Amino acid sequence: MPDPRSYSRPWRLLDTGLRSGAENMSLDSALLTARAEGSSPDTLRFLRFSPPVALVGYHQAVAEEIRVDYCREAGIDINRRITGGGAIYFDAGQLGWEIICSYQALGQGRNMERLTRTLCGAAAQGLRGLGMDALFRPRNDIEVQGRKISGTGGSFDGEGFLFQGTLLIDFNLQNLIKALRIPTEKLNRRELSSAAERVTSVKEQLGFVPPLGEIQAALVDALRETFGITFETGGLTSREEELFTDELAVMRSDSWIYGDRLPSVHQEVLRSIHKEDGGLIRVAAKVDVGRRILRDILITGDFFVRPRRALYDLEAALRHKKLGDLDETVHRFFADSSRGLLQLTADDFVRAIRMAVDKVGYTTYGFSMEEANSLTCLHGSMEDILGRCDLLLLPYCAKLPECPLRFSDGCEQCGKCTVGEAWAMGTEAGLRVTTIQNYEHLVEELIREKDSGTRGYIGCCCEAFMVKRQEAFKKAGLPGLLVDIENTTCYELRREQEAYLGTFTSQTHLRLDLLRKILDAVAGARAAGSRSHAAA
Ligand code: SF4
Ligand code: SF4
Repeated sequence: MPDPRSYSRPWRLLDTGLRSGAENMSLDSALLTARAEGSSPDTLRFLRFSPPVALVGYHQAVAEEIRVDYCREAGIDINRRITGGGAIYFDAGQLGWEIICSYQALGQGRNMERLTRTLCGAAAQGLRGLGMDALFRPRNDIEVQGRKISGTGGSFDGEGFLFQGTLLIDFNLQNLIKALRIPTEKLNRRELSSAAERVTSVKEQLGFVPPLGEIQAALVDALRETFGITFETGGLTSREEELFTDELAVMRSDSWIYGDRLPSVHQEVLRSIHKEDGGLIRVAAKVDVGRRILRDILITGDFFVRPRRALYDLEAALRHKKLGDLDETVHRFFADSSRGLLQLTADDFVRAIRMAVDKVGYTTYGFSMEEANSLTCLHGSMEDILGRCDLLLLPYCAKLPECPLRFSDGCEQCGKCTVGEAWAMGTEAGLRVTTIQNYEHLVEELIREKDSGTRGYIGCCCEAFMVKRQEAFKKAGLPGLLVDIENTTCYELRREQEAYLGTFTSQTHLRLDLLRKILDAVAGARAAGSRSHAAA
């Protein structure tokens, strides 16, 4: 077999034009495999998508990330990438640029941070050549005056290296927001009021769309200068064609797109969502409660793990283990040097798994499995939080849209919405009650409450808000129990922009039965606390 390094010069310049999601994913796989075999040259590929496509990262679950019904109605393909990372939306208004090479060909070692910085720096230089003030923005974006114009991501596969970038040429953010479930996850910046202000496109920056060939030439020139690469235009090799045909059958299949790991753990499972700067981990765990054994587990998310199958092996290693042995199993698994994590640690996986399986204990407070999945403890165990919470936070979106207090804190308890009853129950249980008006208000309240001696809180919000704003809850560091709300949320209605600004006008509903159970448990925990205090 030829040495993969033997093709390090010249590079092939490959333009695969407009293709479907399945075709482009199959090409990624075929090109990477052929390069790893040594049968293909190092390559810069330009790619575009038609029809539009919503792509999940390799470890993600489609239903969690993509509005499947909307995509079907709108003629948007759905597919799965061969690399990790989050869900993305691609249409013909974006240009994909991709490096498939031996990692040694770029002279940066196996250091993903350095490779990303250098490659993004080169692409930014190319965009500057077109007249845009483009710069690399850590960790992996290119921006023009603070607004993202290109996102990137990379992964190693043995000697092979795949790096992918998306350049927004003529882009409508609304299409992306409609297709993806939590689309603005990575675009949040408090000082900007609209997601549309956080991204830009070549058209917006220049006032026109230059010919595609000109944009491609600018990127090619910049890569040539940065890395001293010479390029030769070329097509697919016969080996790549052969691999492509094989891959296409797989990547058009439902089992590739939707994943065949899902059905086995679809019901009666305990779920958790854990978010760190380096990525989001979702866990669905089936537990034999009586024997305290993990029967089955599914781990998904937008993280990068090496090799790709490592996650399946981790799930297999955890199956049938005693709940008490899970942490050690995860640590032992990642201690093996053939496995690697980018930006997340074994502890993050332990935390995510614990957050799910520890919900078994919630049944002792009278919560059903379904109710347990609507509860998330932050910064403390259920016992801790119930015993010390003195604050109840309610979301403004559950107020009656016509209520004069809809967009200000407070409630007159007129009985026309669930907020009134929740307010009465909370006050009766001795908690201070506040209605949260927007993200900034939440941050201010949590910090103020912590400073004034509040020891814990119960907060009602939708799951999407909890995921997206976990950072705010974590920063405050207050023990808290988050309770899901029901009904169609602003995310389902694709009106998260309004919600972000605190101007969402539809109504959600609080789960009053569940809240009542929680407040009963609070009363029980307080009584137990005072009994043990008296006995001492
Ligand atoms: S119960 Fe409170 S929040 Fe709901 S409509 Fe009445 S005053 Fe407004
Ligand atoms: S994100 Fe939307 S639905 Fe969720 S709590 Fe906020 S306003 Fe309500």
